[in-house]
Amino acid sequence: MSVKDVLASGARSYSFEFFPPRTATGERSLQEALRRVERVAPHFVSVTYGAGGSSRDRTVEITRRITEETSLRPLAHLTAVGHSVAELRQIIGRYADAGVREVLALRGDPPGDPQGPWIPHPQGLRHASDLVRLVRECGAFDVAVAAFPERHPRSADWDDDIRHFVAKCRSGADFAITQMFFRADDYFRLRDRLASAGCHVPVIPAIMPATHFDQIRRFARLSNATVPDDLARRLEAARNDPGQAHRAGVAHATALARRLLDAEAPGLHYITLNRPTAALEIHRSLSLPTRAEGASGTKDPRGTARPSGPPA
Ligand code: FAD
Repeated sequence: MSVKDVLASGARSYSFEFFPPRTATGERSLQEALRRVERVAPHFVSVTYGAGGSSRDRTVEITRRITEETSLRPLAHLTAVGHSVAELRQIIGRYADAGVREVLALRGDPPGDPQGPWIPHPQGLRHASDLVRLVRECGAFDVAVAAFPERHPRSADWDDDIRHFVAKCRSGADFAITQMFFRADDYFRLRDRLASAGCHVPVIPAIMPATHFDQIRRFARLSNATVPDDLARRLEAARNDPGQAHRAGVAHATALARRLLDAEAPGLHYITLNRPTAALEIHRSLSLPTRAEGASGTKDPRGTARPSGPPA
């Protein structure tokens, strides 16, 4: 069942995100991580699209191998960075040949300095909405887009952000996945703003277990996410105690995930950085029915610069 159909049926989608490793050891860790995640039968897994060079080929290749060698369903990330339209068509064709049916269409960030000015490729695309249209033109894909609970750092204000997000959805997006965030209220406010703008595209919240103080500070700075003071204090106090930091990060992410699901979030998308232990602990402790059990986490009828790898 496609993610779009899962969401349309009122069930929730659970998924795990990985990045293309740079070394043979990293490759083996990814294979092991995929095998571990396979056991909880997620609705999909995704592999981030590299900032440039050979990592991009690796993204396409790993995505192809997921379709061929595992029981997992891949959602393919793709960005417009540094590509002409002709090149983008070719990559979309490679994804189609690999059996991929779902694409996450992203503008991407400027290479080198993700916070620098965005300069599109001269024969390329300016915005993610253009890529949504191109992916749709190229085949029978379902298309996902990025959403930002603390708004995109480059948007002038919330009105600007919501207007462009809604336009991106109207250009053909079926669902969205958020940037990492650590406060449930940020997600709820985004959802309210979208509802007020008449946009009801399901927005799947991303869960990033914050288990290392320095790492999470760096990622949060890059992605514009606010780390709540209490979480920052607990992680800082556990700087020299990896076990305690892990427990603090998992406890915070589990509480966040529970709050989101209790308030009818349409699923969870775990950012794993290729180490899925924390995400799997969170997922298991939520005691959700697995896809294999058929219930797919059906909603309670009573109720409503992304890290692409470990820091260098
Ligand atoms: P857009 O939707 O194009 O928005 C970017 C900015 O442009 C926003 O400020 C928006 O308001 C503005 N804008 C949009 N349309 C217009 C318009 N018509 N006129 C004027 N301004 C406009 N990056 C990677 O490199 N690889 C990945 O694999 C990757 N995966 C990600 C996965 C998720 C779930 C998320 C949330 C982010 C991911 N990123 C990834 C990071 C993403 O590429 C960056 O955050 C990028 O800066 C924004 O991409 P976008 O698709 O939201 O762009």
